[in-house]
Amino acid sequence: MATERTFSIIKPDATRRNLTGAINKLIEESGLRIVAQKRMKLTRAQAEEFYAIHRERPFFNDLVGFMVSGPVVVQVLEGANAVGHYRDVMGATNPANADAGTIRKEFAESIEANSVHGSDSPENAAIEIPFFFKPEEIVG
Ligand code: ATP
Ligand code: MG
Repeated sequence: MATERTFSIIKPDATRRNLTGAINKLIEESGLRIVAQKRMKLTRAQAEEFYAIHRERPFFNDLVGFMVSGPVVVQVLEGANAVGHYRDVMGATNPANADAGTIRKEFAESIEANSVHGSDSPENAAIEIPFFFKPEEIVG
């Protein structure tokens, strides 16, 4: 399987509980490499654009409010089949359905405050990574 990159966000529920290192430990133990990372506060405009695909969903306003409620850590992860592999490491969107040992099973508070985002396809990873990182900020 070719080396691939995916985009990750450690969400405000996790930064608030000081879980950045604990989540990074699970990411690195899974074999993925963190090749770019920064802590930032999303603006409302950034959060709305990032989750624009969900604009018509009933939870959109709450989701945007949650994503701007505290700092996030945005990351680029690299490894074999990184997109699919990271989705497996994250676990199901609803932590009640997530497998044991996944980030969301271990740490998520709810279906909304579910600790991490990961790109859902290589095509979306290629859109999401440059949304937050310049090429020279990613060091593989
Ligand atoms: P993400 O895109 O954050 O990696 P995902 O791909 O597992 O998560 P999506 O369906 O893309 O899930 O939903 C995006 C985010 O919107 C979820 O991670 C969650 O924070 C929130 N969300 C999804 N479904 C609901 C819901 N029914 N109620 C509240 N929030 C939700
Ligand atoms: Mg998604």
